[in-house]
Amino acid sequence: MDDCIFCKIISGQIPSFKIYEDQNYLAFLDINPINPGHTLLIPKTHYRWVYDIPAQSEIWPLATKIGQDLKQKLNADYFTYITAGMEVPHAHIHIVPRFQNDKMTGMLDQFRINSTIQEVESVYNKLK
Ligand SMILES: [Zn+2]
Repeated sequence: MDDCIFCKIISGQIPSFKIYEDQNYLAFLDINPINPGHTLLIPKTHYRWVYDIPAQSEIWPLATKIGQDLKQKLNADYFTYITAGMEVPHAHIHIVPRFQNDKMTGMLDQFRINSTIQEVESVYNKLK
């Protein structure tokens, strides 16, 4: 897509700190990181959402491999994935090295909608 910042990174129009690249995927450092080593893994084909990527069985093991590599090289305690997808409309998986006392705690709390048990049960009844 012409106006997609990630497609411009793939084509080289915008420079990036690439840490992994193959025929179908690119991983590069987020320049506004949550933690040191915060990486974005993207498919080279433009898809809107991570779940739109046909090769789900490729991208997730690759994300895990990159996460393990980041964890080891940066001496992180563990790593997490974030796939909210709201910032840039090109499918991407954030891979974030995590440290015991980092600031990334209770991240989802700001979005909680304070549902009652009855409301949760109502959704449950639609799903079962
Ligand atoms: Zn794109």
